[in-house]
Amino acid sequence: MHQTNNFLFNSLNNQQLQAVKHVYGPLLVVAGAGSGKTKALTHRIANLIEGNSIDPYNILAVTFTNKAAKEMKGRLEVLLAQELAFNQFGQPWTTLKEIDQNQLRTNVHQERLQNLWIGTFHSLFSRLLRYDIEKYTDPEGLKWTRQFSIYDETDSQTLVKEIISQDMSLDPKRYDPKKIKRLISNAKNQCLTSNDLLEKAENNFDKTVAEAYKRYRISLSKNNSLDFDDLLLLPVFLLRQNDIVRDYWHKRFKHILVDEYQDTNRTQYELIKLITAGNTEPKKFFNWEDRSIFVVGDADQSIYSFRAADFRILIGFQEDFKTSINDDTNSSLIKLEENYRSSSNILDAANSLIENNSERIDKVLKATKEKGELLTLLSCDDEISEAEAITNKIKSLNNYNQNPIWKNFAILYRTRAQSRVLEESLVRWRIPYTIFGGLRFYDRREIKDAIAYLKVLVNSSDNVSLLRIINVPRRGIGKTTIQKLNELSNRLNIPLWEVLNDKQSLEETIGRSSKGINKFTEVMNDLLCYLENSGPAQLLQLILEKSGYLSDLLSSGTEESEDRRNNLQELINAATQYEEETESGDVEGFLSTAALTTDNDTKKNNPNSVTLMTLHNSKGLEFQNVFITGLEQGLFPSHRSIDTPSLLEEERRLCYVGITRAKERVFLSHARERRLWGGMREATIPSIFLSEIPEDLIDGELPQTGGASIRRDLHLDRLTRVDRNNPNEFVNKPINAVRKLYSGPSKGKSWIVGDKLIHSKFGKGEIIHIFGSGEKISLAVKFGDKGSKILDPRLAPIRYV
Ligand code: ATP
Ligand code: MG
Repeated sequence: MHQTNNFLFNSLNNQQLQAVKHVYGPLLVVAGAGSGKTKALTHRIANLIEGNSIDPYNILAVTFTNKAAKEMKGRLEVLLAQELAFNQFGQPWTTLKEIDQNQLRTNVHQERLQNLWIGTFHSLFSRLLRYDIEKYTDPEGLKWTRQFSIYDETDSQTLVKEIISQDMSLDPKRYDPKKIKRLISNAKNQCLTSNDLLEKAENNFDKTVAEAYKRYRISLSKNNSLDFDDLLLLPVFLLRQNDIVRDYWHKRFKHILVDEYQDTNRTQYELIKLITAGNTEPKKFFNWEDRSIFVVGDADQSIYSFRAADFRILIGFQEDFKTSINDDTNSSLIKLEENYRSSSNILDAANSLIENNSERIDKVLKATKEKGELLTLLSCDDEISEAEAITNKIKSLNNYNQNPIWKNFAILYRTRAQSRVLEESLVRWRIPYTIFGGLRFYDRREIKDAIAYLKVLVNSSDNVSLLRIINVPRRGIGKTTIQKLNELSNRLNIPLWEVLNDKQSLEETIGRSSKGINKFTEVMNDLLCYLENSGPAQLLQLILEKSGYLSDLLSSGTEESEDRRNNLQELINAATQYEEETESGDVEGFLSTAALTTDNDTKKNNPNSVTLMTLHNSKGLEFQNVFITGLEQGLFPSHRSIDTPSLLEEERRLCYVGITRAKERVFLSHARERRLWGGMREATIPSIFLSEIPEDLIDGELPQTGGASIRRDLHLDRLTRVDRNNPNEFVNKPINAVRKLYSGPSKGKSWIVGDKLIHSKFGKGEIIHIFGSGEKISLAVKFGDKGSKILDPRLAPIRYV
């Protein structure tokens, strides 16, 4: 092992050290939030490279987002540059001038990290496909070339819709393309083919989905395109079928590292296994002599089951990657038990909350920080006052600051729809903010247009992109013309692009309308001349000029068109940056990056701004102050989850993720009335999660039973209820009317926390919290493995034990 001067080790505890120094064989690190899993993973990569002379070319590191990959690369640069400074110049890092530090980082980047593959599963495996997709043999004879386009959700849905309504002549109202696309996607995430679906089909609808799946693949192949799911599924099939390809990647990626392993799905898991195993038989016992697999995760933070993530994969790690039959499996497990992120009050709150889940592996997570402040509850009248309360808090915490620090604040919400009101309030107070994962930069119209040009240049079979730009900017090509040409292309079974270039058949089919088409093909053919010798940035510039797109925007001269031009400039900047950062700087690679960028990475956000994002997007991040908003039954936990214990547990994990993002302060807010989805403002019930955090950790205002605390008016009498057995009778009747019919055995009983009861459906339970009082009371009841529910004691079929 090389001498390292401790930059890699001196900020780590013993367990982290053990993980970082682990070189060969499998290792699982399981630990709660903020315990330094990601840090250990990053330092381990640096130690493989610096301390063990492992070529970065042999390392594959998987992160959950592009942003996380970027940050990890940045940290690696600094860690390795620190070592370099010391080893080569004998100078400690801190004594170097900033300009020299930057120079060293650049050296490290160019000389040592170019060949390190680090990114999300999607970006890594789309890269693999750019090398090897032409070696894939499809059972149905479908083919793709390495210039394939990547279709986003909208493009894919366009194809599915076409298949349903045109190919299969079905009614899209009965066979909703969105739903069918989702079912196909689910199948792909579980590594199932259309034949698998057909075999499993229980009814006609299932059979139709299987058929649509089959045709959808054919159509994708015709367009030389892949959807997001294919980027993982195709590599699985390719690696399974082709020994040479599998062996190549197996020999290359000797060290695999995966962050957030709890959110891995079956397809991703299969990929990891195929590369680790290579051509070894039997597959179960790998040869670990010169390789390793290192995964870190926390089952309590598994929040993507709706995307087929399965945390049993984390639990099964030791069994899956044994070193031998007699493996002492404990040797491949390290637990980190200290939290370095949050104050201990915050951590206690998060730990108490998550203890309400029954499906979990017990673990220890101790605070290393002081108690800190209590969590603050903001009980608000409605969503507008909630937003105001939050902005007020942010302002007042910055009050004594000449230069306000906005970047220390994050506002988290369950659904994107909640952001609008929050934004309005921030705008009113002139507080800069950034929506993380809002409208994707690459979803903007002008960006999609420019990218579509680029896609067609690289991949002339991509009809979805071709049809998008054929008349943009306007060239007088009408819908009927396009339809005729499409029909011709189908009838002759030649790609649309070739039809467009066949002047004679054009004249015959569409006569004078061919003028516009000729204009289009001229531009494209001119641009094609530059394809070979230009990078993506120059090509984009040429596209915008030669197509007339830019002059079109210039001539309209509106504020909106100015905005669009700025965005296009930003796109060119992104392409330039891509060329600088990658070795090949090729157009295909840039197109993959563009398709897979899921946040506003490309836009230069104000670095000092409040962050707004969904709870899902907050995973892995940390902030000084965190607001968790909309803590109401039906919103958070979501409506769908309330009656399904496993879903409710996932919502609780999401809340655990949210709380554990905070270093210093947590604010929990709920509104007593809320207007969502543009409907009527309705009364709400506070979230059950509020009742699961010990009261002594929360500052004031918790909705409580009568007495001294401020009574929370739940407006229960204004709620309306629906009887599931007899929906029409009770719809929209005030709750009092319903109440009379239901006045059950619990009438008149005054409940207290700790009371045991029996529910006709959920069985035995215990009251863990009481909301409101008198006529307006609700009970939070914990029912063993059925999870917790909020009940109205006058309506629920419960009796006292
Ligand atoms: P999450 O589960 O939320 O992804 P994590 O386990 O990956 O969290 P990290 O993000 O790696 O945790 O670390 C959390 C914070 O604790 C970071 O600010 C990190 O720098 C700090 N940290 C980690 N380990 C140590 C340590 N040994 N000493 C001091 N600080 C540490
Ligand atoms: Mg992490």
